[in-house]
Amino acid sequence: MSEALIIDGKAIAASVTDEITARAARLESETGVKPGLAVVIVGEDPASQVYVRNKGRTAKACGFNSITHTLPADVSEEELLALVTSLNEDEAVHGILVQLPLPKHINENKVLDLIKPEKDVDGFHPINVGLLGSGNTDRALVPCTPAGSVLLAKKALGDDLSGKTAVIVGRSNIVGKPIAQLLLQEHCTVTIAHSRTKDLPDVVRSADIVIAAVGRPQMIKGDWLKPGATVIDVGINRIPAPEKGKGKTRLVGDVAFDEALGHTAAITPVPRGVGPMTIAMLMSNTLTAARRLMGLSEEP
Ligand code: NDP
Repeated sequence: MSEALIIDGKAIAASVTDEITARAARLESETGVKPGLAVVIVGEDPASQVYVRNKGRTAKACGFNSITHTLPADVSEEELLALVTSLNEDEAVHGILVQLPLPKHINENKVLDLIKPEKDVDGFHPINVGLLGSGNTDRALVPCTPAGSVLLAKKALGDDLSGKTAVIVGRSNIVGKPIAQLLLQEHCTVTIAHSRTKDLPDVVRSADIVIAAVGRPQMIKGDWLKPGATVIDVGINRIPAPEKGKGKTRLVGDVAFDEALGHTAAITPVPRGVGPMTIAMLMSNTLTAARRLMGLSEEP
């Protein structure tokens, strides 16, 4: 079989943000308004701080107004809800993202449900979940990692995914299920597999498109893949890397990448695959939210 295409998520994400930067500049020159993204972080979880910093940096690079609200870990639920309410009412804010996880004393659902659905750039609000599930993607804000994963599949296979068999391994609300909805809308024949699925290797072997969203390092083996399949690996797992030195680690996906290369037509690497797409799609959602809130059509 010819060599597999390694889908360069970093380069594709950069081209998405370049386009968004140009569209945001056009919006500003026509209306004087910059898309505004407010990110709320509670506490000092180092991984969350890195994500939030990257989101803010990318938003600024796209020409957006980027506002970060950092609250102490012991902030009360009432104070956080009051902040979300004020962001809902702020006309300069078009996208609101509350970085998860939240401290245990705060009811996550209560906070996410309070975000105005039109500003819910993470796409986790029940209204957006319902709009996606009922096929109204023109009105929904779609979760970023799922949207980015499907875009990468299209980059490899072309825009028409119609009739392809897709197997998604993982059924979480934030990754597996929304990807299934998006692929259904692309007219794929969709199977969602999970920890109770029987004969998982055989199920995966039936797929033209495999989406791995499990959170188990290198679980999906090369010989589970149908020759010529396209593989989108959403998993991000840190494993020991003694070859890099004592105590060192490295990131791997849910797919045994080196083995998979011999079977697939195209595959995303980890890192530099789905990860960079998540932030790019967040920028896309923020621009979409801004245009909709301003009553403008989606395309400039
Ligand atoms: P969850 O833990 O919420 O869900 C994992 C899913 O995998 C569950 O549906 C679970 O099944 C299923 N699963 C677990 N073990 C097995 C198994 N042995 N066989 C089959 N299915 C199994 O994870 P997330 O969806 O939040 O994340 C998945 C991965 O994606 C993680 O590695 C995460 O780090 C990564 N991620 C990457 C992002 C990015 O930007 N690239 C963004 C978000 C997540 P069950 O429901 O039966 O328990």
